[in-house]
Amino acid sequence: MPLAVLEEARAELTDWRGSGMSVMEVSHRGKPFVAVAEAAEADLRELLGVPASYHVLFMHGGATAQFAAIPLNLAGPDATAAYVNTGAWSKKALGEARGFVKVDVLADEADSRYTTVPRADALRAPAGSAYLHYTPNETIGGVEFPYIPDPGPVPLVADMSSTILSRPVPVERFGLIYAGAQKNIGPAGLAVVIVRKELLRGARPGTPTVLDYALQGQDRSMLNTPPTFAWYMAGLVFRWLKEQGGLPAMAARNEAKAHLLYGAIDASGFYANPVARECRSWMNVPFTLKEPELEPTFLTQARAAGLVNLEGHRSVGGMRASLYNAMPLEGVEALVGFMREFERRHG
Ligand SMILES: *Cc1c(COP(=O)(O)O)cnc(C)c1O
Repeated sequence: MPLAVLEEARAELTDWRGSGMSVMEVSHRGKPFVAVAEAAEADLRELLGVPASYHVLFMHGGATAQFAAIPLNLAGPDATAAYVNTGAWSKKALGEARGFVKVDVLADEADSRYTTVPRADALRAPAGSAYLHYTPNETIGGVEFPYIPDPGPVPLVADMSSTILSRPVPVERFGLIYAGAQKNIGPAGLAVVIVRKELLRGARPGTPTVLDYALQGQDRSMLNTPPTFAWYMAGLVFRWLKEQGGLPAMAARNEAKAHLLYGAIDASGFYANPVARECRSWMNVPFTLKEPELEPTFLTQARAAGLVNLEGHRSVGGMRASLYNAMPLEGVEALVGFMREFERRHG
Protein backbone atom coordinates (compact mmCIF):
# COMPACT_ATOMS: atom_id res chain seq x y z
CA MET A 1 0.00 0.00 0.00
CA PRO A 2 1.26 3.51 -0.73
CA LEU A 3 2.23 5.16 2.56
CA ALA A 4 0.25 8.30 1.65
CA VAL A 5 -2.90 6.18 1.33
CA LEU A 6 -2.38 4.48 4.70
CA GLU A 7 -1.86 7.87 6.33
CA GLU A 8 -5.01 9.26 4.73
CA ALA A 9 -7.01 6.25 5.95
CA ARG A 10 -5.54 6.58 9.43
CA ALA A 11 -6.39 10.27 9.63
CA GLU A 12 -10.09 9.58 9.03
CA LEU A 13 -10.33 6.11 10.57
CA THR A 14 -12.45 7.03 13.59
CA ASP A 15 -14.31 10.01 12.16
CA TRP A 16 -14.96 9.59 8.49
CA ARG A 17 -15.85 12.87 6.81
CA GLY A 18 -17.47 14.28 9.91
CA SER A 19 -19.82 11.32 10.35
CA GLY A 20 -18.51 10.55 13.83
CA MET A 21 -18.05 6.98 12.61
CA SER A 22 -15.55 4.88 10.77
CA VAL A 23 -16.24 4.25 7.07
CA MET A 24 -16.55 0.60 8.20
CA GLU A 25 -19.62 1.54 10.23
CA VAL A 26 -21.71 3.50 7.73
CA SER A 27 -24.45 1.85 5.69
CA HIS A 28 -23.26 0.56 2.33
CA ARG A 29 -26.56 1.78 0.85
CA GLY A 30 -26.33 5.26 2.35
CA LYS A 31 -25.50 8.18 0.07
CA PRO A 32 -22.01 8.83 1.49
CA PHE A 33 -20.77 5.28 0.94
CA VAL A 34 -22.44 4.96 -2.46
CA ALA A 35 -20.55 8.11 -3.49
CA VAL A 36 -17.26 6.47 -2.41
CA ALA A 37 -18.12 3.30 -4.33
CA GLU A 38 -19.07 5.20 -7.47
CA ALA A 39 -15.99 7.41 -7.36
CA ALA A 40 -13.76 4.34 -7.02
CA GLU A 41 -15.38 2.75 -10.06
CA ALA A 42 -15.15 5.97 -12.08
CA ASP A 43 -11.47 6.43 -11.20
CA LEU A 44 -10.65 2.82 -12.10
CA ARG A 45 -12.50 3.21 -15.40
CA GLU A 46 -10.54 6.37 -16.13
CA LEU A 47 -7.17 4.87 -15.19
CA LEU A 48 -7.63 1.78 -17.35
CA GLY A 49 -9.80 3.34 -20.06
CA VAL A 50 -12.61 0.83 -19.49
CA PRO A 51 -15.30 1.19 -22.20
CA ALA A 52 -18.93 1.69 -21.12
CA SER A 53 -19.74 -1.71 -22.64
CA TYR A 54 -17.95 -3.36 -19.69
CA HIS A 55 -19.13 -3.92 -16.12
CA VAL A 56 -16.64 -3.08 -13.38
CA LEU A 57 -17.48 -5.31 -10.40
CA PHE A 58 -16.16 -5.26 -6.84
CA MET A 59 -16.47 -8.87 -5.67
CA HIS A 60 -15.74 -10.99 -2.58
CA GLY A 61 -13.46 -13.99 -2.31
CA GLY A 62 -10.28 -12.74 -3.95
CA ALA A 63 -9.04 -13.96 -7.29
CA THR A 64 -9.62 -17.56 -6.25
CA ALA A 65 -13.42 -17.18 -6.16
CA GLN A 66 -13.19 -16.00 -9.78
CA PHE A 67 -11.44 -19.25 -10.78
CA ALA A 68 -14.91 -20.82 -10.27
CA ALA A 69 -17.06 -17.82 -11.21
CA ILE A 70 -15.52 -17.54 -14.68
CA PRO A 71 -16.64 -20.97 -15.96
CA LEU A 72 -19.97 -20.63 -14.14
CA ASN A 73 -20.71 -17.36 -15.95
CA LEU A 74 -19.05 -17.85 -19.31
CA ALA A 75 -19.41 -21.57 -20.09
CA GLY A 76 -22.23 -24.10 -20.13
CA PRO A 77 -21.73 -27.43 -18.33
CA ASP A 78 -20.85 -29.23 -21.59
CA ALA A 79 -18.55 -26.51 -22.88
CA THR A 80 -14.79 -26.58 -23.30
CA ALA A 81 -12.57 -23.72 -22.15
CA ALA A 82 -8.95 -23.21 -23.23
CA TYR A 83 -6.26 -22.57 -20.61
CA VAL A 84 -2.56 -21.75 -20.80
CA ASN A 85 -0.34 -23.18 -18.06
CA THR A 86 2.62 -20.91 -17.32
CA GLY A 87 3.02 -21.75 -13.64
CA ALA A 88 1.50 -21.92 -10.18
CA TRP A 89 -1.42 -19.52 -10.62
CA SER A 90 -2.49 -20.78 -14.03
CA LYS A 91 -2.40 -24.28 -12.62
CA LYS A 92 -4.70 -23.29 -9.75
CA ALA A 93 -7.08 -21.51 -12.11
CA LEU A 94 -7.38 -24.45 -14.48
CA GLY A 95 -7.57 -26.95 -11.62
CA GLU A 96 -10.56 -25.13 -10.13
CA ALA A 97 -12.18 -24.77 -13.56
CA ARG A 98 -12.06 -28.54 -14.06
CA GLY A 99 -14.90 -28.83 -11.57
CA PHE A 100 -17.16 -26.83 -13.92
CA VAL A 101 -16.02 -27.16 -17.54
CA LYS A 102 -13.88 -29.33 -19.83
CA VAL A 103 -10.42 -27.82 -19.73
CA ASP A 104 -8.29 -27.83 -22.87
CA VAL A 105 -4.67 -26.95 -21.99
CA LEU A 106 -3.39 -25.23 -25.13
CA ALA A 107 0.17 -24.84 -23.89
CA ASP A 108 2.08 -25.96 -20.80
CA GLU A 109 5.55 -24.57 -20.08
CA ALA A 110 6.63 -27.55 -17.92
CA ASP A 111 9.61 -28.28 -20.21
CA SER A 112 11.27 -24.99 -19.25
CA ARG A 113 10.22 -25.46 -15.62
CA TYR A 114 7.88 -22.53 -16.11
CA THR A 115 10.53 -19.98 -17.02
CA THR A 116 9.06 -19.16 -20.45
CA VAL A 117 5.77 -18.28 -22.12
CA PRO A 118 4.40 -20.07 -25.20
CA ARG A 119 4.82 -18.61 -28.68
CA ALA A 120 1.92 -16.41 -29.69
CA ASP A 121 0.91 -18.74 -32.54
CA ALA A 122 0.40 -21.62 -30.08
CA LEU A 123 -2.52 -19.78 -28.49
CA ARG A 124 -5.23 -19.97 -31.13
CA ALA A 125 -8.16 -21.36 -29.15
CA PRO A 126 -10.23 -23.92 -31.07
CA ALA A 127 -13.48 -22.44 -32.42
CA GLY A 128 -16.25 -23.24 -29.97
CA SER A 129 -14.09 -22.76 -26.88
CA ALA A 130 -16.02 -20.76 -24.29
CA TYR A 131 -12.96 -18.57 -23.63
CA LEU A 132 -9.16 -18.58 -23.45
CA HIS A 133 -7.75 -18.06 -19.95
CA TYR A 134 -4.18 -17.01 -19.23
CA THR A 135 -2.12 -15.44 -16.43
CA PRO A 136 -0.32 -12.35 -17.78
CA ASN A 137 2.01 -12.28 -14.77
CA GLU A 138 2.92 -15.39 -12.78
CA THR A 139 3.49 -13.95 -9.32
CA ILE A 140 5.49 -16.88 -7.94
CA GLY A 141 7.59 -17.74 -11.01
CA GLY A 142 8.18 -14.13 -12.04
CA VAL A 143 7.13 -14.77 -15.65
CA GLU A 144 5.24 -12.06 -17.54
CA PHE A 145 3.80 -12.27 -21.04
CA PRO A 146 5.48 -9.71 -23.32
CA TYR A 147 2.44 -9.85 -25.63
CA ILE A 148 -1.35 -10.13 -25.45
CA PRO A 149 -2.62 -13.41 -26.94
CA ASP A 150 -4.96 -13.15 -29.91
CA PRO A 151 -7.41 -16.02 -29.54
CA GLY A 152 -9.50 -15.03 -32.57
CA PRO A 153 -13.25 -14.92 -31.98
CA VAL A 154 -12.98 -16.52 -28.52
CA PRO A 155 -13.09 -14.13 -25.51
CA LEU A 156 -9.76 -13.60 -23.78
CA VAL A 157 -9.81 -13.93 -19.96
CA ALA A 158 -6.85 -12.68 -17.91
CA ASP A 159 -5.88 -13.11 -14.26
CA MET A 160 -4.19 -9.74 -13.74
CA SER A 161 -3.92 -10.06 -9.94
CA SER A 162 -0.25 -9.13 -9.84
CA THR A 163 0.02 -6.84 -12.85
CA ILE A 164 -3.16 -4.76 -13.01
CA LEU A 165 -2.50 -0.99 -12.92
CA SER A 166 1.26 -1.49 -13.33
CA ARG A 167 1.08 -0.21 -16.93
CA PRO A 168 -1.62 0.68 -19.46
CA VAL A 169 -3.57 -2.20 -21.06
CA PRO A 170 -5.99 -2.13 -23.99
CA VAL A 171 -9.05 -3.38 -22.10
CA GLU A 172 -11.08 -3.78 -25.31
CA ARG A 173 -8.90 -6.74 -26.32
CA PHE A 174 -10.15 -8.70 -23.31
CA GLY A 175 -13.49 -10.31 -22.63
CA LEU A 176 -12.78 -10.40 -18.91
CA ILE A 177 -10.01 -9.10 -16.65
CA TYR A 178 -9.93 -9.99 -12.98
CA ALA A 179 -7.59 -9.29 -10.10
CA GLY A 180 -7.40 -10.05 -6.40
CA ALA A 181 -6.82 -6.70 -4.73
CA GLN A 182 -3.89 -7.35 -2.43
CA LYS A 183 -1.00 -6.75 -4.83
CA ASN A 184 -1.72 -3.48 -6.62
CA ILE A 185 -5.17 -2.37 -5.46
CA GLY A 186 -5.88 -2.67 -1.72
CA PRO A 187 -6.79 -5.07 1.08
CA ALA A 188 -7.08 -8.81 0.44
CA GLY A 189 -10.49 -10.38 -0.04
CA LEU A 190 -11.69 -7.89 -2.63
CA ALA A 191 -11.47 -8.78 -6.31
CA VAL A 192 -12.08 -6.48 -9.24
CA VAL A 193 -13.76 -7.99 -12.31
CA ILE A 194 -13.98 -6.10 -15.61
CA VAL A 195 -16.22 -7.96 -18.02
CA ARG A 196 -17.74 -7.21 -21.42
CA LYS A 197 -21.50 -7.05 -20.80
CA GLU A 198 -22.49 -8.89 -23.96
CA LEU A 199 -20.67 -12.02 -22.74
CA LEU A 200 -23.12 -12.38 -19.85
CA ARG A 201 -25.96 -14.41 -21.27
CA GLY A 202 -27.00 -15.85 -17.92
CA ALA A 203 -24.87 -17.83 -15.51
CA ARG A 204 -25.57 -21.55 -15.48
CA PRO A 205 -28.31 -22.78 -13.12
CA GLY A 206 -27.07 -23.32 -9.59
CA THR A 207 -24.52 -20.51 -9.70
CA PRO A 208 -24.35 -18.85 -6.26
CA THR A 209 -25.86 -15.37 -6.62
CA VAL A 210 -22.76 -13.62 -5.20
CA LEU A 211 -20.74 -15.15 -8.05
CA ASP A 212 -23.23 -14.20 -10.77
CA TYR A 213 -21.66 -11.37 -12.78
CA ALA A 214 -24.91 -10.27 -14.45
CA LEU A 215 -26.71 -10.01 -11.10
CA GLN A 216 -23.78 -8.22 -9.52
CA GLY A 217 -23.64 -5.83 -12.48
CA GLN A 218 -27.36 -5.10 -12.15
CA ASP A 219 -26.97 -4.40 -8.42
CA ARG A 220 -23.76 -2.35 -8.79
CA SER A 221 -21.88 -5.04 -6.78
CA MET A 222 -24.26 -4.58 -3.86
CA LEU A 223 -26.27 -7.78 -4.09
CA ASN A 224 -25.21 -8.26 -0.49
CA THR A 225 -22.96 -6.17 1.75
CA PRO A 226 -19.78 -5.65 -0.26
CA PRO A 227 -16.32 -5.52 1.38
CA THR A 228 -16.84 -1.83 2.08
CA PHE A 229 -13.55 -1.01 3.80
CA ALA A 230 -11.53 -2.72 1.05
CA TRP A 231 -13.57 -0.89 -1.60
CA TYR A 232 -12.92 2.43 0.15
CA MET A 233 -9.17 1.68 0.38
CA ALA A 234 -9.11 0.71 -3.30
CA GLY A 235 -10.70 4.07 -4.08
CA LEU A 236 -7.93 5.88 -2.20
CA VAL A 237 -5.32 3.89 -4.16
CA PHE A 238 -6.98 4.76 -7.49
CA ARG A 239 -6.94 8.44 -6.59
CA TRP A 240 -3.29 8.17 -5.56
CA LEU A 241 -2.50 6.55 -8.92
CA LYS A 242 -4.17 9.43 -10.75
CA GLU A 243 -2.12 11.92 -8.71
CA GLN A 244 1.05 10.04 -9.68
CA GLY A 245 0.27 10.60 -13.36
CA GLY A 246 -1.80 7.49 -14.05
CA LEU A 247 -0.64 4.28 -15.67
CA PRO A 248 1.90 5.72 -18.15
CA ALA A 249 3.76 7.20 -15.16
CA MET A 250 3.49 3.92 -13.24
CA ALA A 251 4.80 2.01 -16.25
CA ALA A 252 7.87 4.24 -16.49
CA ARG A 253 8.50 3.87 -12.78
CA ASN A 254 7.96 0.12 -12.74
CA GLU A 255 10.20 -0.43 -15.75
CA ALA A 256 12.98 1.59 -14.09
CA LYS A 257 12.65 -0.42 -10.87
CA ALA A 258 12.75 -3.77 -12.67
CA HIS A 259 15.61 -2.65 -14.93
CA LEU A 260 17.70 -1.67 -11.92
CA LEU A 261 17.21 -4.99 -10.12
CA TYR A 262 17.66 -7.29 -13.15
CA GLY A 263 20.71 -5.25 -14.15
CA ALA A 264 22.28 -5.83 -10.73
CA ILE A 265 21.50 -9.57 -10.88
CA ASP A 266 22.87 -9.99 -14.40
CA ALA A 267 26.02 -7.96 -13.68
CA SER A 268 26.99 -10.30 -10.84
CA GLY A 269 28.12 -13.90 -10.99
CA PHE A 270 26.71 -14.30 -7.49
CA TYR A 271 22.95 -13.87 -8.09
CA ALA A 272 20.80 -15.45 -10.77
CA ASN A 273 17.26 -15.10 -12.14
CA PRO A 274 15.97 -18.22 -13.92
CA VAL A 275 13.41 -16.58 -16.23
CA ALA A 276 13.89 -16.17 -19.99
CA ARG A 277 14.84 -12.54 -20.61
CA GLU A 278 11.95 -11.65 -22.90
CA CYS A 279 9.36 -12.63 -20.30
CA ARG A 280 10.83 -11.37 -17.04
CA SER A 281 8.22 -9.86 -14.76
CA TRP A 282 8.28 -6.17 -13.81
CA MET A 283 6.40 -6.98 -10.62
CA ASN A 284 7.98 -10.13 -9.16
CA VAL A 285 11.69 -10.83 -9.40
CA PRO A 286 12.76 -14.24 -8.09
CA PHE A 287 16.47 -14.75 -7.59
CA THR A 288 18.85 -17.31 -6.17
CA LEU A 289 22.39 -17.27 -4.82
CA LYS A 290 25.12 -19.28 -6.51
CA GLU A 291 25.71 -20.78 -3.09
CA PRO A 292 22.22 -21.67 -1.86
CA GLU A 293 23.53 -22.45 1.65
CA LEU A 294 24.04 -18.67 2.06
CA GLU A 295 20.36 -17.90 1.52
CA PRO A 296 19.29 -17.97 5.20
CA THR A 297 22.19 -15.60 6.01
CA PHE A 298 21.16 -13.33 3.14
CA LEU A 299 17.58 -13.18 4.39
CA THR A 300 18.57 -12.60 8.03
CA GLN A 301 20.98 -9.79 7.19
CA ALA A 302 18.52 -8.24 4.75
CA ARG A 303 15.88 -8.20 7.48
CA ALA A 304 18.35 -6.56 9.86
CA ALA A 305 18.89 -3.90 7.17
CA GLY A 306 15.14 -3.25 7.02
CA LEU A 307 14.58 -5.24 3.82
CA VAL A 308 11.70 -7.64 4.47
CA ASN A 309 9.35 -9.98 2.59
CA LEU A 310 12.21 -11.25 0.40
CA GLU A 311 11.59 -14.96 0.96
CA GLY A 312 10.66 -16.80 -2.23
CA HIS A 313 7.23 -18.45 -2.23
CA ARG A 314 7.22 -21.48 0.06
CA SER A 315 6.71 -23.72 -2.99
CA VAL A 316 9.96 -22.66 -4.70
CA GLY A 317 12.31 -21.23 -2.06
CA GLY A 318 15.11 -18.80 -2.97
CA MET A 319 14.34 -15.11 -2.85
CA ARG A 320 11.72 -12.92 -4.48
CA ALA A 321 11.43 -9.15 -4.59
CA SER A 322 7.92 -7.91 -5.36
CA LEU A 323 8.01 -4.46 -6.92
CA TYR A 324 4.34 -3.54 -6.86
CA ASN A 325 3.20 0.01 -7.57
CA ALA A 326 3.56 1.07 -3.94
CA MET A 327 7.28 0.13 -3.84
CA PRO A 328 9.30 3.28 -4.52
CA LEU A 329 12.51 3.29 -6.57
CA GLU A 330 14.41 4.05 -3.35
CA GLY A 331 13.31 0.65 -2.01
CA VAL A 332 14.88 -1.09 -4.99
CA GLU A 333 18.01 1.06 -4.70
CA ALA A 334 18.33 0.00 -1.06
CA LEU A 335 17.95 -3.69 -2.04
CA VAL A 336 20.53 -3.43 -4.82
CA GLY A 337 22.96 -1.66 -2.48
CA PHE A 338 22.50 -4.40 0.09
CA MET A 339 23.00 -7.12 -2.55
CA ARG A 340 26.28 -5.57 -3.74
CA GLU A 341 27.57 -5.30 -0.18
CA PHE A 342 26.52 -8.89 0.63
CA GLU A 343 28.31 -10.14 -2.49
CA ARG A 344 31.45 -8.18 -1.55
CA ARG A 345 31.51 -9.85 1.86
CA HIS A 346 30.49 -13.37 0.82
CA GLY A 347 31.19 -13.68 -2.91
C1 LIG B 1 -2.31 -13.66 -5.46
C2 LIG B 1 -2.81 -14.24 -6.73
C3 LIG B 1 -4.00 -15.00 -6.78
C4 LIG B 1 -4.79 -15.36 -5.55
O1 LIG B 1 -5.46 -14.32 -5.03
P1 LIG B 1 -6.44 -14.53 -3.76
O2 LIG B 1 -6.98 -13.16 -3.57
O3 LIG B 1 -5.59 -15.02 -2.63
O4 LIG B 1 -7.47 -15.52 -4.16
C5 LIG B 1 -4.43 -15.47 -8.00
N1 LIG B 1 -3.74 -15.21 -9.13
C6 LIG B 1 -2.59 -14.49 -9.12
C7 LIG B 1 -1.87 -14.24 -10.39
C8 LIG B 1 -2.10 -13.99 -7.92
O5 LIG B 1 -0.96 -13.28 -7.90
